[in-house]
Amino acid sequence: MAMDNNTVDLLKEPVLIIKGVGDVRAKLFHKLNIFNIEDLITFYPRDYEDRGNLKKIAQLDDGQACTFEGMIMSKVSERHIRKGFTVYQVYIKDDTGTVIGTWYNQQYIKKIFIVGETYIFHGKVTRKFKNIEVQSPVYEKAGSEHKNTMRIVPVYSSTASLAQNTIRSVIGSALKLVTGKLMEILPDWLREKYSLSEINYAVSNIHFPKSDDDFRNARYRLVFEELFMLQLGLLSIKNSFLEDKEGIRFKALKAEMDSIKSTLCFKLTNAQTRVLDEIEKDMESSKAMNRLVQGDVGSGKTILAALALIKAVKSGYQGAFMAPTEILAKQHFDSLRDMMENNGISIGLLVGSQTRKQKTELADRIKSGEIDVVIGTHALIQDSIQFLRLGLVITDEQHRFGVRQRAMLSNKGQNPDVLVMTATPIPRTLALILYGDLDISVIDELPPGRKPVETYAVDSTMRQRINNFIRKQISEGRQVYMVCPLVDESDSIEAKSALKMAERIQKEDFNDLNVGLIHGRMKPKDKEDIMNRFVDGAINILVSTTVIEVGVNVPNAAVMVVENAERFGLAQLHQLRGRVGRGEHQSYCILYNEGKSRVTRERMRVMQNTNDGFIISEKDLELRGPGEFFGTRQHGIPELKIANLYRDIEILKKAQEAAKEVLNLDRHLESEENKKLKERITEDFKEKIKELSLN
Ligand code: ADP
Ligand code: MG
Repeated sequence: MAMDNNTVDLLKEPVLIIKGVGDVRAKLFHKLNIFNIEDLITFYPRDYEDRGNLKKIAQLDDGQACTFEGMIMSKVSERHIRKGFTVYQVYIKDDTGTVIGTWYNQQYIKKIFIVGETYIFHGKVTRKFKNIEVQSPVYEKAGSEHKNTMRIVPVYSSTASLAQNTIRSVIGSALKLVTGKLMEILPDWLREKYSLSEINYAVSNIHFPKSDDDFRNARYRLVFEELFMLQLGLLSIKNSFLEDKEGIRFKALKAEMDSIKSTLCFKLTNAQTRVLDEIEKDMESSKAMNRLVQGDVGSGKTILAALALIKAVKSGYQGAFMAPTEILAKQHFDSLRDMMENNGISIGLLVGSQTRKQKTELADRIKSGEIDVVIGTHALIQDSIQFLRLGLVITDEQHRFGVRQRAMLSNKGQNPDVLVMTATPIPRTLALILYGDLDISVIDELPPGRKPVETYAVDSTMRQRINNFIRKQISEGRQVYMVCPLVDESDSIEAKSALKMAERIQKEDFNDLNVGLIHGRMKPKDKEDIMNRFVDGAINILVSTTVIEVGVNVPNAAVMVVENAERFGLAQLHQLRGRVGRGEHQSYCILYNEGKSRVTRERMRVMQNTNDGFIISEKDLELRGPGEFFGTRQHGIPELKIANLYRDIEILKKAQEAAKEVLNLDRHLESEENKKLKERITEDFKEKIKELSLN
């Protein structure tokens, strides 16, 4: 929101300047995070009540909240019912009947009404025998400026101590102060093109709409603006890190690609084929690819990465594949190595734990072009790593790399194609927001023959039975993961608790079996040893912290036990569960939880009922709410005040299109008409910008 520079910036004035707001009320507003006039007028209603429909007294319905007009017939009566409890009553009449207005303990009512004057009332009506009564109605003198009756009335989210009437009247006063003075931030052509109403109109009508249409127009404009600014902010931040240059045209190599596909030990699923097609088309076009591949755990993203890398190399370029952890990088390396080498492609692995000598040697071979494909962790983005002809960058982002990290890797090539893979399915709306600059492909199908993991939410009374079950599975040759409670305080405390748990299990429950331990505090070399022993089957039960969450593939592991599952988010539980069910064996996920709260029970129910990561992520969004879900702090994204990510997806798409349009015309928002947009983004995204420049 902005105002004409010539007037004092009323928007930044404290709520105290509003008549009727003193220190006490100001403090109550502060509790709602409202400090100044701008906060007030952007404190959007959570709901509306239509009080525009005036009824005759004779028609007032029992049990309903009604609005009616009536004349005061009597002075207010006062009755003390018992200690501390006084009833105030007044007779109100129109030409069809009489109603008794009743208030409790509100002494000031005595001074409000003038006998013979007409007022508008709104409140809940009860009819008993012949009596009609209305409880604690709100009232306004007929013909006055109506804020609480005779119209569509806003309802605000409020703490009990600020009455709706108060909020309405304070917001009404704030609006009076600023309407007509608010400056348009959106360029005229944009408002015209997308039929967006004018800002002063929109702000008044979102609070006090004159009609349903006015409300809809106002809301549309404000939701659009909010999502537009969000997209514009994210896109222009991305623009400042990624230059939009002519990309590489990779060769189609149809026959070669087909023959490679035919040597795979499985047939690609329809979804994989479709997504691969999208990737190949992007690669062949002159525009640099910027594509996100979303696919649930186990949907087979790695093979698509491999095929894209082969295509890049066969077209004469190098490829880089960056994974979030060493374990994963190593695993990708192991699983792609044969395939690459069989196709005459040289492949290297670069991770932080390698010796300096190993790294420099590798760096030389990457720089000389001797290595075609390099797989690694963020060690890849170090300055010392240079490529001869980097053409394709793939990032596997279970834990999103920042835009900047992705860009740092891309910048090692001449505008290479970029493929981002994520196994954390996020609802489409959020994907549009978080990855606004990427084209999105979804692998929405699992390879055939997968048996869905059976999930059981249990409490500790089941421990003996579960332990017996684990034994049985192990005696059949399977392996087990046990994930210990999430500890917030620190890595080292978490590591300690994992250690304790491993020791206890080894000593008490499973002293005849091999229990291993892996956690984030261990040296990479030790982690690798443990993982290797687990892969080889030497370890029966692997106790771990959530380090295991990311992409690990041990097909023989068939049981995932999660302690204190109530502490994990749904997406995280889904990731953990994805570690089993990767082979031919029926797999199981046991969620120990003390599910006392409604949300916990609901979460556990979702986990038991579905294996579909997209449904789970929608549910997660619903249960946690968008604020927490996309963690404003985590992503440095401004909070949404009016847009609803379920309902407003259509507006989001338009807003995104509009943001792209604006940036296409004026990439750095330098023109006069875009100046205000730029200022606003800089302000709204200062956290995000800070985060990006620190990374
Ligand atoms: P994710 O998408 O979680 O990264 P992966 O790429 O690790 O999944 O694939 C999981 C497993 O499925 C791997 O063992 C892989 O070889 C196998 N796989 C991938 N695609 C298919 C397919 N079309 N048919 C059968 N198995 C497949
Ligand atoms: Mg993967």
